[in-house]
Amino acid sequence: MKIIFEKSVKGRRAARFNSDVPISPKLPDNLKKEKQAELPELAEIDIIRHFTNLSRNNFGVDNNFYPLGSCTMKYNPKLGEIIARDERFSGLHPILPQLPEGNLLTQGALEVIYETGRLLSEITGMDEFTTQPLAGAHGELTGMMIVSAYHKKKRNKKTRVIIPDSAHGTNPASSAICGYEVTTIPTNKNGVMDIKKFKKELNNEIAAVMLTCPNTLGLFNSDIGKICKMAHSMDALMYYDGANLNAILGKCRPGDIGFDIVHLNLHKTFATPHGGGGPGAGPVGVKESLRKFLPISQVVKGSDGKYFLNYNQQDSIGYLAPFYGNFAVILKAYIYLLTLGKEGLIKVAENAVLNANYLLAQLKKHYHLPYDRTCMHEFVISAKRQKEKGVRTLDVAKRLLDFGFHPPTIYFPLIVEEAMMIEPTETESKETLDNFAEAMIKIAREVEENPKVVKTAPHNLLISRLDEVKAARELNLRW
Ligand SMILES: *Cc1c(COP(=O)(O)O)cnc(C)c1O
Repeated sequence: MKIIFEKSVKGRRAARFNSDVPISPKLPDNLKKEKQAELPELAEIDIIRHFTNLSRNNFGVDNNFYPLGSCTMKYNPKLGEIIARDERFSGLHPILPQLPEGNLLTQGALEVIYETGRLLSEITGMDEFTTQPLAGAHGELTGMMIVSAYHKKKRNKKTRVIIPDSAHGTNPASSAICGYEVTTIPTNKNGVMDIKKFKKELNNEIAAVMLTCPNTLGLFNSDIGKICKMAHSMDALMYYDGANLNAILGKCRPGDIGFDIVHLNLHKTFATPHGGGGPGAGPVGVKESLRKFLPISQVVKGSDGKYFLNYNQQDSIGYLAPFYGNFAVILKAYIYLLTLGKEGLIKVAENAVLNANYLLAQLKKHYHLPYDRTCMHEFVISAKRQKEKGVRTLDVAKRLLDFGFHPPTIYFPLIVEEAMMIEPTETESKETLDNFAEAMIKIAREVEENPKVVKTAPHNLLISRLDEVKAARELNLRW
């Protein structure tokens, strides 16, 4: 496809924008460029076609199934987008004054932040939330800074954090940034953290245990309550990586299980897409004893029912992000929660788990399944069997593109060779799941009969395989 500059024809023009703002004749010379800007010259119809066709080469959840495990690429209702775009929200300036008259202008926005935090507390069993962190990893950093502040305040000498080997890579990274050494616990044959090895590593040096449950294999750890008790006996805090909360919404609450801190990705579970490159939000919830360490500032509801920002938090870990987080993302989550209500959220979890198990049942005859258990919202299969025919997971992923599907997450979690991590989400119909299963099964058959067609895929797209190393090393986004 030609880039827009190559389509330029000298002298060609699109419709002009008629502005009634007069152009100042007195532009000082030092502000004028010597040369005219080199812009493409095109008719309006060529511009429209160019960008419309470009947008059709993109892939999103609005095009087709996008089972990117761990990332929850579910359908995000457009209602949230419409309301978040409303000028009465989008036009608010973040430094509108806190004075009474300014407060009048910001009360609605403060209420949204406050109420979203309250609802997230209810869902997770926590006592208070900060909505400031801007992503999941940022939420983890916030949480681990709170861990560090807690132990410093108690004069505890803690140097290490326990994390299972199935964890998202951001977990050890966040711990390390906060100065902790990471102790990795292997996964047992049931696909969960080995509790015997955990017990052996647990001692007074442990500041926290970071867990994802269900973990990145999509499996729930039924020892989780016991693990929390064991950690607390050593005054280690329990951190719940709730980036993906789809499986447990309205079913169980990390706070009730014994977790002290949790972060959520609003841009996975709560109505903003993940992986779209757009803004996200990683709010963090804590139990009462950790409330005082939350970042500055917190939205508080006064006894008069008015909302205000409290900057007076003595033990706070400080400022985490400018202003109050990505407000539009928080707003969309709030709308999502109100629209679904309690019953709706429970249905989300039930259908997410049902869809994953339905798909798993169809695929497990055709691909290796390393942990053969009932899964939660996602599952991990492997192309180990296909590898014997010289076909790798990457090839299967590329072949899926020919069938119009986004591939699943591949080569993660790291503990499964040739991993494919599939998360169908609750918003997909049985027909879509069947179509995807059919494509996956067809690919498995192709591997047996004609592996070359899989190894050289994709065949139907504008570009075939990219040199990914070169693309990353010599990134060039300019014309
Ligand atoms: C996505 C994810 C994260 C990180 O979230 P980001 O917003 O991408 O920083 C952390 N843990 C798990 C389990 C995740 O799936």
